[in-house]
Amino acid sequence: MEQLKEKINSALSLEELESIRIEIFGKKGILASEFAKLKDIPGPQKREFAQGLNEKKASLQELFDIKLEQLKEQELNKRLKAEALDVTMYSNISEKGALHPVQETMDKIIEYFVAMNFAVESGPMVEDDFHNFEALNLPKHHPARDMQDTFYFKDNTLLRTHTSPVQIRTMMRKKPPIRIIAPGSVFRRDYDLTHTPMFHQVEGLVVEEGDKVSFANLKSILTDFLHYMFGDVEVRFRPSFFPFTEPSAEVDISCIFCEGKGCRVCSHTGWLEVLGSGVVDPNVFKAVGYENVSGYAFGLGVERFAMLLHRIPDLRSLFEGDIRLLEQFR
Ligand SMILES: [Zn+2]
Repeated sequence: MEQLKEKINSALSLEELESIRIEIFGKKGILASEFAKLKDIPGPQKREFAQGLNEKKASLQELFDIKLEQLKEQELNKRLKAEALDVTMYSNISEKGALHPVQETMDKIIEYFVAMNFAVESGPMVEDDFHNFEALNLPKHHPARDMQDTFYFKDNTLLRTHTSPVQIRTMMRKKPPIRIIAPGSVFRRDYDLTHTPMFHQVEGLVVEEGDKVSFANLKSILTDFLHYMFGDVEVRFRPSFFPFTEPSAEVDISCIFCEGKGCRVCSHTGWLEVLGSGVVDPNVFKAVGYENVSGYAFGLGVERFAMLLHRIPDLRSLFEGDIRLLEQFR
């Protein structure tokens, strides 16, 4: 009996205690073999023997339970100690961080326009139909609405598909002259090599009273801007269609990968499309209550600029948060 107690007390780990448990309390253990002797004990002494054995078992069990708790606590403390973080420990490894390429590109774009005296405006990401479509000369059932796969909410609000509603909000709040850019996230139901459901735009708007603003102003500032961003590239304006501008032009730069000779990135045209622009459609001015004004507007995708500047082939890789990609921008 004393020997068994000592054995339980000597256990150093839960593992060891478990093997002792099997040895003493198991089906083929010491106690079981003691109980087996019961059948050979003559009748009158049977009861006394059984009672003694049960008492013995109970006291061993009690000791075992105490030891089990002790060892559990001991092992927990050991684990806590091993896994503890010493927050006061000094480390001389400090990696330099960096801006995400999209943010860095956005900053560079904003920097240019702020230097050109543009104010930076922002607006809500959850918009209504009027600000996102209607006021931009995109009435209901207009075919151009299909160009933009929109995320709608139940109450007829939506996630803005471009930052153009910021232009509408600014014009409804202020009188001309207006000279703003609207940078921010926009949302469309699209996902492939060159589209993600969320991306960033910077749009610009200039409005003056009378006919002071012309397409020539637009052409000159955008050409200068593209030289600032991409260096010595050729810039061309190509007639296009946007519902909120008339006339409209898409702006291309000569391909920075092949210098205009033609490659896979520019689909062998020698040109890369980078901006949409145009003279503001009179219907847009009518929607915000402006009269006798002239203006131009332009818009660009920040991710597209980041991809071109850093030669990133897949737009989606900008949003995967892969440290191996991000580390290259330190
Ligand atoms: Zn090319």
